Amino acid sequence: MKCLKCDSTDFETKNLRFSSELKGETIDVIIPSYVCKSCQNPLLDTQQMSVYRRTVADGYRKKHNLLTSHEIIEYRTKLGMNQTEFARYLNVGEASIKRWETYFIQDASQDDHIRLKCDEAYAETNFLNIQSQHSEPDIFRGNRKFSLELFQHVALFLIEQTNASILFLNKLHFYVDFLNFHKTKRGVTGARYVTLKYGPCPDEYKSLYETLVTMRVIEKIDAYIFKTLVSPDLSLFDDDERESLLSILEIVKKKGVQHLYHLSHQEKGFVETNECDFISYAFAEDLKI
Ligand SMILES: [Zn+2]
Repeated sequence: MKCLKCDSTDFETKNLRFSSELKGETIDVIIPSYVCKSCQNPLLDTQQMSVYRRTVADGYRKKHNLLTSHEIIEYRTKLGMNQTEFARYLNVGEASIKRWETYFIQDASQDDHIRLKCDEAYAETNFLNIQSQHSEPDIFRGNRKFSLELFQHVALFLIEQTNASILFLNKLHFYVDFLNFHKTKRGVTGARYVTLKYGPCPDEYKSLYETLVTMRVIEKIDAYIFKTLVSPDLSLFDDDERESLLSILEIVKKKGVQHLYHLSHQEKGFVETNECDFISYAFAEDLKI
């Protein structure tokens, strides 16, 4: 190997900073490079060059919230597939996989496609979002469409503030939505509630909470207790909705979560709705709190 500037053959390896232009943006990377000992001119060999291109591409991907080459490789290996199998699975050419796993940047729709087929949480959230788009606002949803996002932030708020187990959280969800309906004729989350043996519960509450776990916004401490991994965003709620959340919290702080648990079993909506049926928000008129 010979220096292109001074013909010297004496090199050392250094981690060097390079500024690179990619799709009209400047990406800074630090990578190992040969440096001429006499004139300090850097010289990349083939292997360093490919590390360089991949690192620049990954820098761009990170900036734009796209999967990095390493993340794509990780998805593939987790599925136990080689590049040929993975290409077939994603319905793309094998060359695309080879490039995505190095320096060729997938576009946003390709990125979405890879995640949908490889990331359980992403696919599940997508499924719930479609479902909520299909849900029609009616009296069983508190006159609004179900919003996974709002349900998530109610859950985060309740968990963070009360540390209650799922048994109690279910009742708190019920009271937040029904109290808000009582005041405004609209629920907060669009969730439906069913009467189960142990009181009113959000419909499909187990899979909703499982989804929050896979989305990594909450974590299971044991079978019934959760811990928040992100903070609730109360700016998502309007003034009435926020007031409903805070009113329920105040009752929990004053009288304990047990109080609301027992009260929920005496609610007309619970008593007069058959087991496993949806509770009409019309019963919010007669709330006991
Ligand atoms: Zn030189």
